[in-house]
Amino acid sequence: MNRADGLAAVREEIMRACRDAGRDPAGVTLIAVSKTFDAEAIVPVIAGGQRVFGENRVQEAKAKWPPLIARHPGIELHLVGSLQSNKARDAVAFFDAIHSLDRESLAEALAKETALQARKPLLFVEINTGAEPQKAGIRPQEADAFLAACRDSHGLTISGLMCIPPVEDAPAPHFALTAKIARRNGLALLSMGMSADFPVAIAFGATHVRVGTAIFGARQAAG
Ligand SMILES: *Cc1c(COP(=O)(O)O)cnc(C)c1O
Repeated sequence: MNRADGLAAVREEIMRACRDAGRDPAGVTLIAVSKTFDAEAIVPVIAGGQRVFGENRVQEAKAKWPPLIARHPGIELHLVGSLQSNKARDAVAFFDAIHSLDRESLAEALAKETALQARKPLLFVEINTGAEPQKAGIRPQEADAFLAACRDSHGLTISGLMCIPPVEDAPAPHFALTAKIARRNGLALLSMGMSADFPVAIAFGATHVRVGTAIFGARQAAG
């Protein structure tokens, strides 16, 4: 399947999931995760009408996107991968949304840079719903306090939550938990669902689905 067809198939599946859930498809943003793929792979997806893309590394995105952005107006870039505090400056300058706010030192760095640069990327706090020791994200039981600290101590506007369920689990309870934490904190946006599970995520209220493989095909290197 070529990439334009992959994109069309994912779009169709989003429409179907929205219909099943009684949701307006306009409430679900597809983020095409293009990490590890070069411009040649990305151009057909842009030609297919896609404008919102996700990357997981600041350096990689900075290297490959400027020429594409210059040629294709209206591109929106989302950072979905983890962010080191020393790259906060570049991330704030380059991305329209950051999905991986997961610790207080990063909140502080982002607060400083958003003020200095007068830029306000959408911010999502990553929740480690499976409480996996090796994984980034705030533990569910610490989420309310962390969100309060982002707002009250750092003056950040948090728009939503992001989660990546453990690979070995059924994703639904993780999506439900993330949605519940967002609801009680008054957050409107939910970044959840990848190639394997985005229709389930839509059933649980995802507003942003992050889909790579189902559009671009399998990645060569670990991304
Ligand atoms: C790579 C990645 C995705 C896309 O995953 P696929 O399974 O290829 O759809 C989504 N979210 C994050 C955070 C990623 O790193």
